[in-house]
Amino acid sequence: KGEMAIIQGALELRSKTVEDVLTPLDDCYMLASDATLDFCTVSEVMQSGFTRIPVYEGERHNVVNILLVKDLAFVDPDDCTPLKTITQFYRHPMHSVFNDTKLDVMLDEFKRGKSHLAVVQRVNSEGECDPFYEVMGIVTLEDVIEEIIKSE
Ligand code: ATP
Ligand code: ATP
Repeated sequence: KGEMAIIQGALELRSKTVEDVLTPLDDCYMLASDATLDFCTVSEVMQSGFTRIPVYEGERHNVVNILLVKDLAFVDPDDCTPLKTITQFYRHPMHSVFNDTKLDVMLDEFKRGKSHLAVVQRVNSEGECDPFYEVMGIVTLEDVIEEIIKSE
């Protein structure tokens, strides 16, 4: 029973894509790149409970950085440090993948890379204008593992 469900889940990684498991952009907890790391913002980050926080510039589709909660270790909220100072210091590489990436490939990338979060993009060719890349959401290692064990 349980073992079969897990094997089933593992086999399905080859057919499912990151689009099937992503957290939609609207549901993502993110920060604007011009935010200030004052007491209010730092508490909000802590209360969100997330370890990895996408940072956007201008509008939410334009994800430019990732803030890790541990980057805040040396930040004193009284200094009101601009978020940009921190993201430019750490410069965590941002991992982007396309919406049709299969989950087995995504799992391999998570195992190989250092980051356990990727930004999911798609090509939007619906409108009149030229096709453009559009961020759909985020996917983490947890989302892929969940797919393996959820079928129980
Ligand atoms: P960790 O468990 O490594 O501390 P976490 O709890 O911040 O990380 P994950 O465990 O990687 O996050 O993911 C749990 C779920 O939350 C997943 O569905 C993932 O897509 C989602 N998630 C991760 N980061 C965010 C975020 N910043 N905003 C909204 N959802 C997120
Ligand atoms: P995260 O990836 O969520 O930032 P992390 O890098 O601290 O967390 P994990 O990715 O959970 O740690 O674990 C990576 C490896 O490091 C695992 O083999 C784990 O057992 C080991 N590990 C985790 N914490 C410690 C620690 N405090 N001391 C020694 N080894 C640790």
